[in-house]
Amino acid sequence: MNSIFDYTIEMLEEYFVSIGEKKFKAKQVFEWLYQKRVKSFDEMSNISLDLREKLKNNFSIERLKLRRKQDSKDTSKYLFELSDGNLIESVLMRHDYGISVCVSSQIGCNMGCAFCESGRLKKVRNLKASEIVLQILMIEEEIKERISSVVVMGIGEPFDNYDEVMNFIKIINDPKGIAIGARHITVSTSGLIPGIEKYSNEPLQTNLAVSLHAPNNELRNKIMPVNKAYDIEKLIDAIKKYIDKTNRRVTIEYLMLNEVNDTPECANELAKLLRGLNVYVNLIPYNETSHIEFKKSSNERVMAFYDLLKKQGINVTVRRRFGSLIDAACGQLRANEVNK
Ligand code: SAH
Ligand code: SF4
Repeated sequence: MNSIFDYTIEMLEEYFVSIGEKKFKAKQVFEWLYQKRVKSFDEMSNISLDLREKLKNNFSIERLKLRRKQDSKDTSKYLFELSDGNLIESVLMRHDYGISVCVSSQIGCNMGCAFCESGRLKKVRNLKASEIVLQILMIEEEIKERISSVVVMGIGEPFDNYDEVMNFIKIINDPKGIAIGARHITVSTSGLIPGIEKYSNEPLQTNLAVSLHAPNNELRNKIMPVNKAYDIEKLIDAIKKYIDKTNRRVTIEYLMLNEVNDTPECANELAKLLRGLNVYVNLIPYNETSHIEFKKSSNERVMAFYDLLKKQGINVTVRRRFGSLIDAACGQLRANEVNK
């Protein structure tokens, strides 16, 4: 049975029309689900008994199971259990501008990046839109506060699960849904070019982040196997086309791996690669994990890298260290649970 949380408002409208009901029922159902936050169809009092019965027979309205929550100062990590027993995780971060949540889009990931726990665990399956939506819904309910921004940067490669991720975005962005502004939603990809192309044609003004992590093919091939299919030149070209089409600035994520990609040569090469592009670089401190040999760059090396980019006119920031105390890096909580 499909979850009612898989459905965008347009999909629900289609459903109601297909069973001979009025289209506007979709809006009413959305209000019950996302504004009043009911937990059963029986509570939808402006929907007829007969129609509630139909909904009950056709859709599930189950939430996920919260298996574990770990808190540190301004970060909370949620481990959810899905109806088939699989585990996924989400991370909440408190900033001075509001609360952001990082959601997972797949169970595991097939992209095989050398530094990443999620890649080590391999993809079990894609998440349904509902399973991504419920991460947001349940966290809002748990903290009793509104989430102001969402990043699809947890476990999984979102463009390897394109349609469900886009439905998720439509649902959380809908004014009758969770109403998170498109400009506050960011999808991060390891560089699947067909996904970037498709994304550039979406009508919503959501943001794109690309995990680059290396300034040349030789190094990127070593740490990100996806580069063998979509090399740096093609990737930069796809980013350029995306910017031309959408007029939106793209975030370039660059993980700082000690003595791997954090040398002055790498910084100079990166500056040259990105010159003239409307991007900003986010230098990400690496969260070390016990299963993987990469080490994080020292603050000195990060700052030297930062200075070299800055000097060459590249917009660059260093991401605040979030969650390293509670294993909040991509896939780590789940990895610890699965490996037990
Ligand atoms: N698959 C997508 C989105 C999920 S990964 C992507 O790769 O972009 C989100 C980000 O977390 C990526 O930039 C990834 O490189 C980074 N990441 C992976 N493992 C990490 C770790 N141990 N510490 C810090 N960042 C990590
Ligand atoms: Fe997958 Fe992203 Fe991890 Fe690479 S970094 S293995 S693409 S989740």
